[in-house]
Amino acid sequence: MHRIKSKLVALVIVALIASLVPAASAAQLQNNWSTTQKIVYVGLTPKEEPDFWTAYEGETTTAVTEGEMLSYAKGTVADAITFWKQTTRGKMKFGASKFFIGKPGTAVKHCNSNADSKAAMKIAGLKSIPVGTHLVTVNVNDSCGYAGLGQQGGNSLNLRSFGTTTLIHELGHNFNFYHSSTIYCSNSDYTKFNSTKCYVEEYGDFRDLMGNDDWCPDATLSATQRATIFSIPKAKDIKIAVDTTVDESKLITDNLVYQFNYKGVWYFFEYYIPGEERCIAFKSFLAKPQIQIRMAGPAWAKAKGNAVGPMLIQRQDSELPTSVVNVDPEALPARWLLTGFVEGEKFQLPGAPYVLTVKSTGATSAVFSLTKI
Ligand SMILES: [Zn+2]
Repeated sequence: MHRIKSKLVALVIVALIASLVPAASAAQLQNNWSTTQKIVYVGLTPKEEPDFWTAYEGETTTAVTEGEMLSYAKGTVADAITFWKQTTRGKMKFGASKFFIGKPGTAVKHCNSNADSKAAMKIAGLKSIPVGTHLVTVNVNDSCGYAGLGQQGGNSLNLRSFGTTTLIHELGHNFNFYHSSTIYCSNSDYTKFNSTKCYVEEYGDFRDLMGNDDWCPDATLSATQRATIFSIPKAKDIKIAVDTTVDESKLITDNLVYQFNYKGVWYFFEYYIPGEERCIAFKSFLAKPQIQIRMAGPAWAKAKGNAVGPMLIQRQDSELPTSVVNVDPEALPARWLLTGFVEGEKFQLPGAPYVLTVKSTGATSAVFSLTKI
């Protein structure tokens, strides 16, 4: 079986300049649950490999109906549909996918996604792409240098690397998702929160496939990403100086993400318990239950990243006055990037006179409060 995997390097065309708005925003056309989504998949074929999609090298004694690559591609589409159905708690509906293979010579060695998409439309017999249809064009000879190309709120995407992760990621752009980013301020000092001290890593969030995670059957998106784009779950408003209980970020309950706005900047709080649902091992996050804070805004952060969605706040344990990792130092890598806040910690929100206090971190839920300074 062919396992095709590559580091996710994707480029986004940002068609929407509107800044990220929280849960209450109007549903986008692509996210209208009454629209049936449909994938039209076109595999372009290299001239030098006319049987790229249809070759079969296994046992021929059993009934073989299609090539290994086409079969693999169908598997990635099935996995991507499962992912987006799970992520929307079943609200997103998909019709039957269609698959087409271009004649040898259609996978041209060039960097021209428009020409590839036009060729794919012709092969699929599409004069235009209806709302809800996502034209997936695969050109393994694409020389642009990205694994995939999606369009914010668009209905067409191009893949060079046609693994499940890239397909899910680019579909995410079609569904209006921006990248899951991280923000880090030098010396982990968020009291100096500005464009010279702080850095945005556009794909930095390990939590999901709009960041730098890989697909696996349990993969999902951060609750903040789901809340800001799909309103599933809906982000709840924080009450200042009142204890707030937040559940672990699974798909089932509604107390998954809380939001707070200060002077146009949004802060999102969710609870994360590491370990069980991670698909690849990360050495760079705190392996303890943690309250994660993601931010949308300010404008300078967006200017530093190409297309910045929610930014996960990161710190380095070695830069904190007291280590919050607190395990055998010899078992640790030299540097721990922290992605959250543990029981007992206090943290002043970057750019806002409010302090987070993490009161408890239980097996499935945590309690925190936000107080004004
Ligand atoms: Zn992307």
